[in-house]
Amino acid sequence: MSTKDFVEKDYYKVLGVPKDATDAEIKKAYRKLAREFHPDANKGDDKAEERFKEISEANDVLGDSKKRKEYDEARALFGNGGFRAGPGGAGGNFNFDLGDLFGGTQGGGQGGAAGGFGGGGLGDVFGGLFNRGGTGTRVQPRRGQDIESEVTLSFTEAVEGATVPLRMSSQAPCKACSGTGDKNGTPRVCPTCLGTGQVSRGTGGGFSLTDPCVDCKGRGLIAQDPCDVCKGSGRAKSSKTMQVRIPAGVSDNQRIRLRGKGGPGERGGPAGDLYVVVHVDAHPVFGRKGDNLTVTVPVDFTEAALGGEVKVPTLGGPPVTLKLPAGTPNGRTMRARGKGAVRKDGTRGDLLVTVEVKVPGDLSNEARDALEAYRKATAGQDPRAELFQAAKGA
Ligand SMILES: [Zn+2]
Ligand SMILES: [Zn+2]
Repeated sequence: MSTKDFVEKDYYKVLGVPKDATDAEIKKAYRKLAREFHPDANKGDDKAEERFKEISEANDVLGDSKKRKEYDEARALFGNGGFRAGPGGAGGNFNFDLGDLFGGTQGGGQGGAAGGFGGGGLGDVFGGLFNRGGTGTRVQPRRGQDIESEVTLSFTEAVEGATVPLRMSSQAPCKACSGTGDKNGTPRVCPTCLGTGQVSRGTGGGFSLTDPCVDCKGRGLIAQDPCDVCKGSGRAKSSKTMQVRIPAGVSDNQRIRLRGKGGPGERGGPAGDLYVVVHVDAHPVFGRKGDNLTVTVPVDFTEAALGGEVKVPTLGGPPVTLKLPAGTPNGRTMRARGKGAVRKDGTRGDLLVTVEVKVPGDLSNEARDALEAYRKATAGQDPRAELFQAAKGA
């Protein structure tokens, strides 16, 4: 693992988790992806194999709290691989020796990324973008924020999939100043953080931690003449309603990622992602077990004992008829194929029907006589004989 990998690869993106994901979320995301792209499950599929390698590599780093910390710090320092000389820069890739920075040769408390660049690096890195403003300094594009939202679906919507309106408020660039925060659109680069939006403090071990710059609130820019609309922040609250397609078969508390539907990027950066946490309302009759739906169906004693045909409701479709074999015990589960939840591939799981033998509370005289006759006919059969026999043994 080279430091260059650290800077250029977005392991969070590879695992589809946000930067502040918990260890458990990372583990879960990794397991899910590893199963999906495992070479055993994708024989001969080179793309899946490549993806599997990426996933494993990402997990090696993010799954190890020490490595993850180093990775986060390296990326905070070098800005998500954004340190390439852009248009107006010197051209070519950013390629000074990162190893120096991480080898501890720089000593503690470098006082920021700039400390490590040495002689000619700064011009390449910061050249260009804001030339028009006369500052001669370029600020890197920044990816938009990941946004998390929630939605509650009915049980049926979760099974069938649904398009739901999602109202979101986000930080959009201020229209009045095109997001620069400056009345004339000519902000200057923050002198404190040199436009990185982050300041470092030394930890004494050759490493430094980064914090958002206080002076520019992490933007890297300071308005010379603050915009009246956004007071120089460059941002405006915008709230919009989006139609979001929730795929069929989602389960309660599942987190869905919608790529590029998050906060807008700044200065040409890509938009963030939108994560939707889905809550699913319970159904009075049906339950969910993965792709399968469950239902408990009451049958009376004679149906269970003699067998018969039982009509069973399905979710959103006509009832199905199940053949109950004679002598079906209470609690037996039977399967109505293809009457379950929609899977990713469009097929459906099954409906698991559990039989519950009902004991009548009220008996008509005729029914009581019939049961008395039944009792007589089965006299001598002790339903607990086996129980007592077993209780004696062992
Ligand atoms: Zn600053
Ligand atoms: Zn503004």
